[in-house]
Amino acid sequence: MTASGRPDCGSDTTPLPVEQARARILATVEPLMATVSVPLREGLHRVLAEPVTAAVDVPGHDNSAMDGFAVRAVDVQPGAELRLAGDSFAGHPFDGMVAAGECVRIMTGAVLPDGADTVVMQEHTQVRDGRVRFTQAPEHTGEHVRRAGEDLARGRTVLEAGRRLTAADLGVLASVGVAGVGVYRRPRVAFFSTGDELASVEQTLAPGQIYDSNRYTLYAMLREQGVELHDLGVIRDTPEAVADAFERAGQYDAIITSGGVSVGAADHVVDVLERVGDVGFWSVAIKPGRPVAFGRVGRALFFGLPGNPVSVMVGFSQLVRPALVRLAGGTPAAPVRFECRTTRAIRKKPGRREYQRGRLLTSGDGPAVEPAGHQGSGVLRSMSEADCFVVLDRDAGSLEAGATVTVEPFAQPVWNGG
Ligand code: AMP
Ligand code: MG
Repeated sequence: MTASGRPDCGSDTTPLPVEQARARILATVEPLMATVSVPLREGLHRVLAEPVTAAVDVPGHDNSAMDGFAVRAVDVQPGAELRLAGDSFAGHPFDGMVAAGECVRIMTGAVLPDGADTVVMQEHTQVRDGRVRFTQAPEHTGEHVRRAGEDLARGRTVLEAGRRLTAADLGVLASVGVAGVGVYRRPRVAFFSTGDELASVEQTLAPGQIYDSNRYTLYAMLREQGVELHDLGVIRDTPEAVADAFERAGQYDAIITSGGVSVGAADHVVDVLERVGDVGFWSVAIKPGRPVAFGRVGRALFFGLPGNPVSVMVGFSQLVRPALVRLAGGTPAAPVRFECRTTRAIRKKPGRREYQRGRLLTSGDGPAVEPAGHQGSGVLRSMSEADCFVVLDRDAGSLEAGATVTVEPFAQPVWNGG
């Protein structure tokens, strides 16, 4: 402990490296294990609590991948003519057997009739007087036939537990006749802004006031995580008001706040956290957003993000989101990163890992990144104009235009597993 009584790691003089901060957070998070059954559609973005097994084959039967004619491959050479014995349409199978010298008109998705082993596409045929003339032979037996179970075989695991369900997953589950899924309950997350200067968007600004934008970006980022949201509003900069908000929020699984986490006279978040909860750390070697507190209030995980709007978004993406993924029963994915050149010079002082804002360019010779305007932590517009972070290592200094940098696109998988 330091003289202030705060833990000596992650202090103002020794901020925690980002990786360590993330590792400590993840080591603290225990996934919520309670499960609920929900109708399939409500499973979107939720985390499967149990694996799902296919009760049927997909496709359910051998069927045609083309509109054309079902044949026995041995019967078809260029110029061959076969008797048209009937039709097999999707939902209306041919009721019979394709004998030697015969074929059946078949539509995409229709059941391949018994006796047939191959489909010849319509474009390679001519139909006249109940007979079909073939202008081309199939390349191989089984051409244009989709086999029963080739996509998913009955009894196979379709999706593993821990999987966060996507649009495609919902379709896959529907394709094996799953009407409902067992998922983990959603984390219940409370969030609020602190600051005497904050007005809500429906209010008129008094002198010196600013609009509370953080609650909107936080709302949106939390919505994207699919958590259950509890907006506790704007909290005034007094220890009493902050303590009262903590008390109300202690019943949730996680609390996320913005502002008041630094060491100024109006910053009460860390002091109150110390009094009513546990402080894990309160300073991280990240820019923007060094003052960021992590701890517990009651059974809730606590994340105190700074007030500057870009710091809120950077801190959320790097430290809070992985924790929410784990809390929800998933596995946080390592960020997708790649290297490319910067079109402009980048200013940076050694000392903290920086997440500058950039725009990816794909024209010209390979991908490049263009720094997105003013990099100040209060300049949210540069965040809205950006589509990636330019991630600059702690010890890195300024870079010339053309230098190679690491970028982390915003639109990337943040979940893993399954
Ligand atoms: P703080 O971390 O409380 O010292 O705030 C740092 C900066 O962020 C100050 O300029 C605040 O006015 C600004 N700020 C704090 N909270 C918000 C918010 N909810 N929305 C927009 N700006 C904020
Ligand atoms: Mg403040």
